[in-house]
Amino acid sequence: MQKRWLSLSDIPAEGREFSFQDDQAWEFLWEKNKLPCTMDESLTVWVNIIPQKKGFYIQGKITGAVFLPCDRCLEQARVVIDNSFRLFEEFESVEPECLQRPLLRFVEGRWELDLQHLFWEQFVLALPDKYLCSENCKGLCPHCGQNLNEKFCSCEQDAGHPGLAVLKQLKIEKG
Ligand SMILES: [Zn+2]
Ligand SMILES: [Zn+2]
Repeated sequence: MQKRWLSLSDIPAEGREFSFQDDQAWEFLWEKNKLPCTMDESLTVWVNIIPQKKGFYIQGKITGAVFLPCDRCLEQARVVIDNSFRLFEEFESVEPECLQRPLLRFVEGRWELDLQHLFWEQFVLALPDKYLCSENCKGLCPHCGQNLNEKFCSCEQDAGHPGLAVLKQLKIEKG
């Protein structure tokens, strides 16, 4: 991702393959989008771009691994990224009222592809719904914030089981 825009005008009819690996560019994107992410295995994006009559067919794959805060305990969770994608970017899809930002632009008689935007979109799509440091992560105590993977805290008994909580509530309502 040395540069943001990739010129598509000299791609032969049979298409051309590109692969991109640039940790610094990813760090820039994470910072820009305020995502607390760090690199584990360098993200690699491979794309095959085939010119079509009305646009470009883009086939690709994003692989690697990153660290993100665990959804339960906030410690680092390793997230494997491995996603294939296929897109068709049409020349005419660029409409002024269209909210979605187009991936293509036409500058000085050449079509160019917004690599940064493509990579960011595909990275976000490749992320799982939840990031967990481990399947059995116990998370943080909702009362004192203790990481329960490391040790138990004293509020444990007090939180009690759900039945007790219901009883407590009943008392309050009566009172
Ligand atoms: Zn965790
Ligand atoms: Zn606690």
